[in-house]
Amino acid sequence: MHGQQLSLPFAAPSSSERETRPEAQRVEPSRPESAAVPGPEVATTLANPGPTAGALRLPPCADDPLSPIHSLDELARIALGCNRCRLRAGCRQVVFGEGNPQARLMFVGEGPGEQEDIQGRPFVGRAGQLLDRMIAAMGLSRAEVYIANVVKCRPPQNRAPQPDEAEACWPFLRRQIELINPRIIVCLGAVAARRLLGPGASVSKSRGRFFNVDERLVAVTFHPAALLRFPANKKLAWEDLKMVMKALEDGDLAAEDGD
Ligand code: SF4
Repeated sequence: MHGQQLSLPFAAPSSSERETRPEAQRVEPSRPESAAVPGPEVATTLANPGPTAGALRLPPCADDPLSPIHSLDELARIALGCNRCRLRAGCRQVVFGEGNPQARLMFVGEGPGEQEDIQGRPFVGRAGQLLDRMIAAMGLSRAEVYIANVVKCRPPQNRAPQPDEAEACWPFLRRQIELINPRIIVCLGAVAARRLLGPGASVSKSRGRFFNVDERLVAVTFHPAALLRFPANKKLAWEDLKMVMKALEDGDLAAEDGD
């Protein structure tokens, strides 16, 4: 990889880059300080105890109808016919995900937007163009990584997926992760972070370090749509991506303690 040639390669937003989708206008809700929300390690461990205190597990599926599926193509075929939640009725098509089926690096976003719903591919709108530049800045190509979302069908008006929708779609994402078996997963935004790390996760609390989940590394950074809305955070996102690049280059699977 050769992504270290520029210090902040996707920092400057062009005027045409301004995100107009409602998704980009949405701000992660703040939590009251007194809420004492447990950290993602605690939350996930409590919900789904792992073998050690330092290792997390992917949340289980309420039912696990997809565990016998052993190919991404077959999983995609099943997803295309899915009606497990209300989102399917309001979208044009299911956006399963795309990329290298043996990728070492996987990005997980929130859900398809308008362009994704039209084209049937993840991250192809303006936020997707920024993600492409982020990936390129890492010295990688889109074809080398895998890109998926928490929900495969577009939520109405690009609203955040509701918890029951994310839960309904979890068997697909979980099986995608198992079949691709990436070394590192980058959660793009809080929805993905909460899905993989537990309800206590957020971008502000969880970014900047790795979590060891089922013996792979999970990092959290800003959703590209949020970076289009708040470009000052691109510097922090680049720090997150450099951390991921270093782990890929080092082959280092040791997660920090996270405290
Ligand atoms: S969002 Fe997921 S669970 Fe809901 S209908 Fe689409 S593929 Fe099925």
